Amino acid sequence: MTKIQIFDVYKTYATRSGRTTALQKVDLDIRENEFIALVGPSGCGKSTLLKLITALIRPSRGKILLGGTLLDKPSRDVGIVFQQPVLMPWRSVLDNVLLPAEILGLDMKEARARAVELLDLVGLGGFENRYPGELSGGMQQRAAICRGLVHDPSVLLMDEPFAALDAMTREDLGFELLRIWERHRKTVVFVTHNIPEAILLADRVVAMSPRPGRIEKVIDVDLPRP
Ligand code: ADP
Ligand code: ADP
Repeated sequence: MTKIQIFDVYKTYATRSGRTTALQKVDLDIRENEFIALVGPSGCGKSTLLKLITALIRPSRGKILLGGTLLDKPSRDVGIVFQQPVLMPWRSVLDNVLLPAEILGLDMKEARARAVELLDLVGLGGFENRYPGELSGGMQQRAAICRGLVHDPSVLLMDEPFAALDAMTREDLGFELLRIWERHRKTVVFVTHNIPEAILLADRVVAMSPRPGRIEKVIDVDLPRP
């Protein structure tokens, strides 16, 4: 089943010096529960493509369907993890994770149980009542991943979530991500500069090229899961 359908998408930004075409004629079908890695040099439009799937920005041309429906406003079926965890320092780890559930007005008792389960899954069991300043960068990013999943979206978008982490933490977190993906069956779109990481984690690697950004090739990864 197709989860996300990207159809003939172009994105042009207006800039001081004219217009920048960030994406040109992007077509991609992302299957339900598929793990997609988006790779390519800086400026090839990876973030733009991810932002279009959040519906925080709109395509200049073409359309994106989520679960067969036109994606014309941000959907609660989508969770987002950014490059920096940006946790609120005055809120406990648990209260940070619960933020999307609060904003969406979800049942907080259910959300709390889910948050505790997710924190446990990424090795942060027992840290619920600690504050972000007491956690390492890797632990903060784990909490941010839990925050991206607390409202139980079926799609998780991640923009270089490990970029700020050292190699060892990065690898650990990659394996944890796989465990989450296997346990909860999500459709994941993951932006990375790291090709080995892309091959290790993804079902398909989507390689993009710049000026203007477009899909160069789509590679099926047929590796056993670690
Ligand atoms: P369009 O897709 O027709 O350009 P948008 O609503 O996406 O319309 O954007 C409105 C204007 O803001 C456009 O001129 C666009 O180039 C610019 N724009 C879009 N996204 C951003 C952004 N993230 N930051 C700055 N400018 C943007
Ligand atoms: P990547 O994530 O692959 O580095 P981006 O999607 O950030 O690529 O950028 C693609 C192209 O669009 C680049 O040329 C970038 O300078 C341009 N761009 C991105 N965001 C904006 C914006 N808000 N306003 C104008 N140009 C932008």
